[in-house]
Amino acid sequence: MENQMKALVAKLNQYAKEYYTQDNPSVSDAEYDRAYRALVDLESQYPELIQDDSPTHRVGGLVLSGFDKYQHIYPLYSLQDAFSKEELERFDRRVKADFPQASYVAELKIDGLSISLSYQKGKLIVGATRGDGTIGENITENLKRIKDMPLTLKKPVDITVRGEAYLPKASFAAINLERQENGEMAFANPRNAAAGTLRQLDTSIVSKRQLATFLYQEASPSQQTSQEEVLNHLQELGFSVNKSYLKTSSMAEIWKFINTIADQRDQLPYDIDGIVIKVNELHLQEELGFTVKAPKWAIAYKFPAEEKEAELLSVDWTVGRTGVVTPTANLTPVQLAGTTVSRATLHNVDYIADKDIRIGDTVIVYKAGDIIPAVLRVNKDKRGSQEPLLIPKTCPSCASDLVHLKEEVALRCINPLCPNLIQRSLEHFASRQAMNIAGLGPSVVEKLYAAKLVTDVAGLYDLTVDDLQTLPQIKEKSAEKLYQAIQASKDNSADKLLFGLGIRHVGAKASRLMLEVFETLPNLAQADQEAIAAIDGLGGVIAESVHRYFATDQAKKLLTHLQEAGLNLAYLGQTVSKDAPLSGMTVVLTGKLEQLTRNEAKDKLEALGAKVSGSVSQKTDLVVAGSDAGSKLKKAQSLGIRIESESWLRTL
Ligand code: NAD
Repeated sequence: MENQMKALVAKLNQYAKEYYTQDNPSVSDAEYDRAYRALVDLESQYPELIQDDSPTHRVGGLVLSGFDKYQHIYPLYSLQDAFSKEELERFDRRVKADFPQASYVAELKIDGLSISLSYQKGKLIVGATRGDGTIGENITENLKRIKDMPLTLKKPVDITVRGEAYLPKASFAAINLERQENGEMAFANPRNAAAGTLRQLDTSIVSKRQLATFLYQEASPSQQTSQEEVLNHLQELGFSVNKSYLKTSSMAEIWKFINTIADQRDQLPYDIDGIVIKVNELHLQEELGFTVKAPKWAIAYKFPAEEKEAELLSVDWTVGRTGVVTPTANLTPVQLAGTTVSRATLHNVDYIADKDIRIGDTVIVYKAGDIIPAVLRVNKDKRGSQEPLLIPKTCPSCASDLVHLKEEVALRCINPLCPNLIQRSLEHFASRQAMNIAGLGPSVVEKLYAAKLVTDVAGLYDLTVDDLQTLPQIKEKSAEKLYQAIQASKDNSADKLLFGLGIRHVGAKASRLMLEVFETLPNLAQADQEAIAAIDGLGGVIAESVHRYFATDQAKKLLTHLQEAGLNLAYLGQTVSKDAPLSGMTVVLTGKLEQLTRNEAKDKLEALGAKVSGSVSQKTDLVVAGSDAGSKLKKAQSLGIRIESESWLRTL
């Protein structure tokens, strides 16, 4: 038995190292939790065999080199966890046995990483990670780059507060897409992406990644008497506080709340992995105290894992616009987090080799950060005589030799004339964030390319209505419409054009930053690399990439062609005007929308000048409510906030 327990401890410690220290877990949280529970069971049966290095007796991770260590004045803890209603009821009985008067606050368990912030006279002095609970890393400079992080509080108090730094789902998806395009390993989940970001030594990366925070605890002695008061106080001091909490003394009410939140989880703009239930009265918290690892006055209910087994039928290899060749698994369909999944990413060739993934295998599929389905690993117990997967040596589109650069995990096609690469570049050029050419989607791009009408983005501007009409299934009316959309895009601000060119590492925001400084595309094309790198918010990697791009003959010719075609090459500034209908208003979307997707509604609101927020507060000016709207709508009604429907939005 001792050997079995030692092996389990070693395995869990290895997982914890990958998760906390390297921000790169090799197993899912559910798998970690299962192994952890098995160890807890064994330890309760054989307490004399508990190992000194058991993770059940230690908090969290280790301290990385690269940052100064920070000794926490008030230690940080982990949370005891629960996976069922019965476990919560047991917790409730334990608390109420001693304190029948206790009430609870149930909060969303944000899937980010713990941060501890110390202020003196209202000024941020130190921000640190949890580390092992006693010693963390001093990441103050990085934390200062988070937009909602108050550097000065609204009152000049001395206080240490705790909370979570997290990465919104949308930023997570964008970062992973970019990393994949750049041939880097995708982050497994938003928590690891957030932790990886805050442990960057280059603060500009933090500025770029749009992290946010929720604070929920006063660690230094508090004047407040309850957790609810703490949350209100933190908000008064200027911190972001998550308002979706429930105060009640009934565990049955909490169970209802858990189910309601579980249903809404997909719609939240950030990831949560459960609900934390805390005894509300601070004096009772003090009486209940702590174990070595966790407070006895709180418990974290963890949502069930969303993982399924499926058979890997085949693998598609596709070339993206930067030439990266990405493997996608075709699977027997499975239901996962509310959708049917039959395709999942295999990330890259190194991932396939590392996990030894083969066609015919039974694989575990999960939704990374609840967004992109991914293959996690193989169930080797179900392996038969499958052969290792054949990795292509040539490009699936143009048959030229693929390269696997040493510093990259991806395979790459480096033929600039690769048909797939050109088509993906055209699609990117036409996409909403770039030149926004309505009607120029993948199928029209494919037809244009097949008809040899266009071979690069400038070629779009030579097209006539007659050319477009020659394409299969394109009628006169849609040809005319598409022609007009292409012509109209000539007037776009040059940052859209720059982003549309698809230069490696250059996103929409970097494009804007560069053109704010250089004003026109020809100016930027002639700029020194150092001058580009000196722009606040950009790094050397982007500057080098842009400089290298514009030095090529191909780019020079393209720029001349675009200029001759009459495209605007100047930066026109942010396009939303001050007299846009919703200019300056803070708007919240809630409920199910019938006609628009969430993103479309959000884009529309922003285009109309609104700032879209996730939660209703006194600062909200307007709530757009779809069907089945719940607590946000109620709150808006109680605060007397203006409420409008989806159809109202569509008519604007
Ligand atoms: P935890 O995630 O179980 O809970 C504690 C943490 O919850 C706190 O430190 C805090 O950061 C966070 N939290 C979020 N919202 C909160 C709120 N409203 N109130 C209070 N706390 C809140 O604890 P842990 O010790 O950080 O990690 C253990 C978990 O990490 C495991 O259960 C597992 O899911 C995961 N893990 C996974 C692996 C892996 O290899 N996949 C390895 C180690 C740990």
